[in-house]
Amino acid sequence: MIDAGIRMLNEGITIGTWGNVTIRDPETDYVYLSPSGMPYRTLREEDIVVLRLDGSRVEGERKPTIETEMHLSIYRARPACNAVVHTHPTYSTAFSCMGEDIPLLLDEAAQVLGDVVRTTKYALPGSQELAEECVKVLGERSMACLLKSHGAVCLGKDLEEAFGNSTVLEATAKVYSIIRSMGGRFDPISPENIAFMQEFVRTKYGQR
Ligand SMILES: [Zn+2]
Repeated sequence: MIDAGIRMLNEGITIGTWGNVTIRDPETDYVYLSPSGMPYRTLREEDIVVLRLDGSRVEGERKPTIETEMHLSIYRARPACNAVVHTHPTYSTAFSCMGEDIPLLLDEAAQVLGDVVRTTKYALPGSQELAEECVKVLGERSMACLLKSHGAVCLGKDLEEAFGNSTVLEATAKVYSIIRSMGGRFDPISPENIAFMQEFVRTKYGQR
């Protein structure tokens, strides 16, 4: 988890102590959270906070990330999700400020992001309302959403997948922004082709 925090800084998808990373152990349902407001490069193993899904504490003395309720709500709503990465990537955040959704306009987005990436209504950081909005716009299928005027949230079956999804989201937002700034439009990929690619990735892609 500490490596993941440093990776967010190195990839330029967050700065300072912003953003947060959590993982769930699918065997115990314990959720491991980064602490609130501590620079990632100074974190030690004992700074990680471990909570149950109801928010009760298992281990760790630190105050967990202020977005704890958002992370726990996502895990409660999406049982197949075992990692959540919250970042502030530039292009995705620009769309969140405009209150716009990002369509699955690229093959790679269609393959991994599950559904249109929707933006929440505005809610204050750390609020119960933000947690509820986030779960609502994620729905049952989307692996990413945007927090209004704030940043992005990406889910994964593990941390590697959540990171991969956040890279694809930002790449898609960047292409979408270029299309828009060129005054252009995009031809949507058909729902049939999106469904085909998602099924292919789920069942046939790779070396298995
Ligand atoms: Zn944030």
